[in-house]
Amino acid sequence: MTDIIKPHKISVVIPCYNEQDVLPELFRRMHDAAERWVVEWEIICVDDGSYDNTWNLLCEQNAKDPRWIAISFSRNFGHQTAVSAGIYHTTGDAVIVIDADLQDPPEELYRFIDKWQEGYDIVYAVRQHRKEAIVKKISYWAFYRLMSKMIDFKLPLDSGDFCIMDRKIVDILNSMPEKNRFVRGLRAWTGFKQTGLVYERQSRAAGETKYDFKKLRRLALDGILSFSTVPLAIASYLGLWVSLLSFLSIILFFLQRVFKSFFESIGFGPKPGFAIIIAILFLGGVQLIFLGILGQYLGRIYDEVKQRPHWIIKNSKGVAPKNPSNS
Ligand code: UDP
Ligand code: MG
Repeated sequence: MTDIIKPHKISVVIPCYNEQDVLPELFRRMHDAAERWVVEWEIICVDDGSYDNTWNLLCEQNAKDPRWIAISFSRNFGHQTAVSAGIYHTTGDAVIVIDADLQDPPEELYRFIDKWQEGYDIVYAVRQHRKEAIVKKISYWAFYRLMSKMIDFKLPLDSGDFCIMDRKIVDILNSMPEKNRFVRGLRAWTGFKQTGLVYERQSRAAGETKYDFKKLRRLALDGILSFSTVPLAIASYLGLWVSLLSFLSIILFFLQRVFKSFFESIGFGPKPGFAIIIAILFLGGVQLIFLGILGQYLGRIYDEVKQRPHWIIKNSKGVAPKNPSNS
């Protein structure tokens, strides 16, 4: 391992939601890893509205070592908001984002720091193997491939939020006003010099996943809808094809009636009502799907124009609470 000698400050952001089981091990391993970097460091843990002992443990850690900073939300705002709030409060020259559950090993971080010091602005982690449930693995695999087809910048495949970013990227992220955040997408969108480092994703050190199906679906939709309008375009393409098909069906419908005996002789005579029912159901279905897609965009636009604060901070240790809308 290379010891780092440049006089930099590194900030680490850790979102925590009901992570009491894993925190003692996180404190120990993260602290040992950070001490080996031989740079100034701070660690900002964001308690995303936990209802277990997470906040007390974070406060105790801050009392022991003030480089461990803690922020708590007034309720659960979600992983991406917790990461964004953490990033917003950092002061380092580079910022690391890592999950609390030790699936991303802190001992690997020196490799990311080395790469950053080589001159890369973003070094993101690429998951080689996921030690997770098969459905989750397949969903993530499909999602990244689908999304990368729908956007016009390069989204690294199989990369999560685990990364190091230079201060200039962090400043850009902090200046982005949007609330529905897909941090790994925003990060990739900024451009600059980016590279990936392959690592083996571990299973959780303790506790259960905090990403239920609903949260994962929301994350996937935020990812696609905030970077791509392709779903809206599909509506017009499909609409065009459906109209063409309906038009051809109408011609067929008339022909069947005009040349009835011919069509009956080839076993394709008119069947009353059947075609119409199919057409109505088909068109109704297509319209509902695209009304739904419109609704998803509209809901997000509504969310943004309301201009409510991105998060509400209930408590903090070692840092003055800030919010993009009031500071
Ligand atoms: N998390 C959070 N708020 C949430 C859900 C999760 O801050 O609403 C945190 C959680 O504590 C963890 C990270 O986000 O540090 C990733 O969550 P988890 O490990 O449960 O997700 P998975 O790795 O299973 O996708
Ligand atoms: Mg996890």
